[in-house]
Amino acid sequence: MLKIIEKLIGSYSEREIKKILPIVDKIESLASEYERLTDAELRQKTDIFKQRLKNGETLDDILPEAFAAVREAAWRTLKMRHFRVQLIGGIVLHQGRIAEMKTGEGKTLVATLPAYLNALEGKGVHIVTVNDYLAKRDAEWMGPIYNFLGLSVGVIVHGLTHEERKKAYSCDITYGTNNEFGFDYLRDNMAIYKEELVQRELNYAIIDEVDSILIDEARTPLIISGPAEKSTDLYKRADNFVRRLKPLYYNSDDDKQMPDTTGYDYIVNEKRHTVSLTEEGIKKAEKYFGVTNLADPENATLHHHIIQALKAHALMKRDRDYVVKDGQVIIVDEFTGRLMYGRRFSEGLHQAIEAKEGVRIERESKTLATITFQNYFRLYKKLAGMTGTAKTEEQEFREIYKLDVIEIPTHKPMIRIDHPDKVYKTEKAKFEAIVQEIVETHKKGQPVLVGTVSIEKSEMLSEMLKKHGIKHEVLNAKHHEKEAMIIAKAGQKGAVTIATNMAGRGTDIVLGEGVAELGGLKVIGTERHESRRIDNQLRGRAGRQGDPGESRFYVSLEDDLMRLFGSERIKNLVESLGLPDDQPIEHKLLSDAIEKAQKRVEARNFEIRKHLLQFDDVLNKQREIIYSQRRKVLEGENLRDSILGMIDELVDYKIKVYTGESPHPEDWDIKGLLQDLKFIFLDSELSEQDAKNMTKQELKEKLISIAKEKYEKKEQEVGELMRELERVVLLRVVDMHWMEHIDAVEQLREGISLRAIGQKDPIVEFRFEAFEMFDEMIKRIQEDTIKIILHANVENMPQRERVVKEMYENAPSDTPVRKPVVKTQKVGRNDPCPCGSGKKYKKCCGAV
Ligand code: ADP
Ligand code: MG
Repeated sequence: MLKIIEKLIGSYSEREIKKILPIVDKIESLASEYERLTDAELRQKTDIFKQRLKNGETLDDILPEAFAAVREAAWRTLKMRHFRVQLIGGIVLHQGRIAEMKTGEGKTLVATLPAYLNALEGKGVHIVTVNDYLAKRDAEWMGPIYNFLGLSVGVIVHGLTHEERKKAYSCDITYGTNNEFGFDYLRDNMAIYKEELVQRELNYAIIDEVDSILIDEARTPLIISGPAEKSTDLYKRADNFVRRLKPLYYNSDDDKQMPDTTGYDYIVNEKRHTVSLTEEGIKKAEKYFGVTNLADPENATLHHHIIQALKAHALMKRDRDYVVKDGQVIIVDEFTGRLMYGRRFSEGLHQAIEAKEGVRIERESKTLATITFQNYFRLYKKLAGMTGTAKTEEQEFREIYKLDVIEIPTHKPMIRIDHPDKVYKTEKAKFEAIVQEIVETHKKGQPVLVGTVSIEKSEMLSEMLKKHGIKHEVLNAKHHEKEAMIIAKAGQKGAVTIATNMAGRGTDIVLGEGVAELGGLKVIGTERHESRRIDNQLRGRAGRQGDPGESRFYVSLEDDLMRLFGSERIKNLVESLGLPDDQPIEHKLLSDAIEKAQKRVEARNFEIRKHLLQFDDVLNKQREIIYSQRRKVLEGENLRDSILGMIDELVDYKIKVYTGESPHPEDWDIKGLLQDLKFIFLDSELSEQDAKNMTKQELKEKLISIAKEKYEKKEQEVGELMRELERVVLLRVVDMHWMEHIDAVEQLREGISLRAIGQKDPIVEFRFEAFEMFDEMIKRIQEDTIKIILHANVENMPQRERVVKEMYENAPSDTPVRKPVVKTQKVGRNDPCPCGSGKKYKKCCGAV
């Protein structure tokens, strides 16, 4: 049905391309004019375009001329002139869409058009590749075009120094891998001086092999972790220290008389679930830990540990709030009494309890910063992508990234022959047949590229070929540079190459002499992948740029795809034929059935990714808030108003906490309020008696004015350093709390599926709890910031300092033994859903 309509009105891509063609005509019509320019005149175009942009013209206005300039420059430098279809591709990329262009169509060259055009704005353009080798290759290869036109090109690869990175990012156009771009982003958001930033704003990214990065790797998290606080030790020391302290239990609600704190070290308010050190306690702490001023920002971590240790002792009760089981502290749900495996108290409280109970203190390292590729690339103002295979994932690109896919016609007609699948009953028979075909093809001298789905299978096949004495190469995406060299030769006469699907991606396979006459490159797939896209990648290795070529997939009923997702119908069909094992079946019906199975799996995988995305989104929103605040601090913004605003909010919040919603002063806990604020900014400016005679509004105004007076006094005392003091304190406090927070959210997420046995929707619960945690964190940030600033000591001004000094990175796609494309395990209808919801699969992502 859809096919018929498409015939009548043309496909979506055809219609969209029609709109683009007039621009293409315009570019081509400029060719002769640009050919006549001298090198210097062509080079000057860049300055002219930049000036025109300054004068108010848009990128779209100058697109035809800019593209014509790049085209001419490419010809003069590289002896390549963009084909008509490449101009279409370039426009599609400029428009922030995905250009589907087959392998060998010259996407590297296509990207130079939108890269040049967009770089004219001076905000930077990133071209993203799947590995370091390709980043370097493409930057060096295309560099002459940009340089000719007076633009600079940088490349970001693993192992660069900070200075080198900064330089590369300041170039007009920067090539690099998704990993490097992502990690630099995370590191920039841990910087404590503006000068440390390497990236500029995330303006425009063109992602090569976009399906690999935005679909297959979408949810791969980049993680920067650090050693857990020099902690385990500090937790123990804090624990030892608080054991010798004397608590004053004071529930201000029922106790009208403000007790004298003399002789007590800390105050415990069980109702409010708070603890705080008294003057005496603070003195003891300073003495015990050998510090001069516990309120000093330098000692924030120490203070935090002491408070957590106090809470662990005074507020957390074994077998009520938690149990100790097999050397682990496990939280007890306060409502259901259920053990919440996997969940940990946040902000180091769990560790403090572990110290108290004398069990091993968990967590060797903790996450300091993390982001998934999906979320990283959504940060760019404009995003575009190119690949040979995107169409099958069109819906996902559209829904998740708001990118549509435009299929660009090939430069020359495609003449590759795609043979129907050969289906065998057993895997053994299948591989024997494959070897047979390789042997025969090899005899003719026709090159063969064999695709496997795993390293293990490629090694097995390699063994079989060795027995037949056939020389061959095996590639499995471990050594990109060497592989590129090998795969480039895969089109030579007599070559036999075994490769997993990621191996050598991006490298052109040029046919050797006389190979076209033999039928070109023959691609043999040894198994159908779950995703049609991956199969299409493999096929696309042959028949590039109008070359002859062939492809065929071998399938057996024992393959994962068939075993797990094939329908009974296929099995019955094959059985009914009653053929011997070594007799293949080649039938359109079978190929169709296989494709149906793939479509089912693709749709299911998409659903799972979409579902998981909801979890990622929660932290993502919070990260955006924190990072943008942090950025303002780094940019040197005057924080005076922000700090004063915090005072308003904090007082407001504290009054709410201690007076509740009640309009009746007799219900208010004035004593508690004043006590609490004592540790933040209050001295003896306000007596309990006076406070009790005030309305809520009066009380609020009074407290705010006391705090602000203190603030102004501090400002006078500190002088012009006040602005820096604010920045130092805020950065430190935000980082400390934020890192604790993401760690806690991660643990929440790990734990949440374990308690979703009931009727609750885990994502709803997760969102709710994570939101609450975030809210609480903001409150703590405000409180700590105000407290520390108002207590800062002029003689000993705090300096900017990293909260965590050592950092490690995970490196997702360069870990050696990595499956080419992550496969999901077969999930039974009654199994728990792999998305972690805790529901049965059939009731969750598997629901039809
Ligand atoms: P893709 O990334 O689309 O698979 P590549 O960018 O690797 O393709 O280019 C494939 C080959 O096509 C390269 O060898 C390149 O030199 C060649 N090529 C691309 N565009 C042109 C052109 N306009 N004129 C001549 N050769 C071209
Ligand atoms: Mg390429």
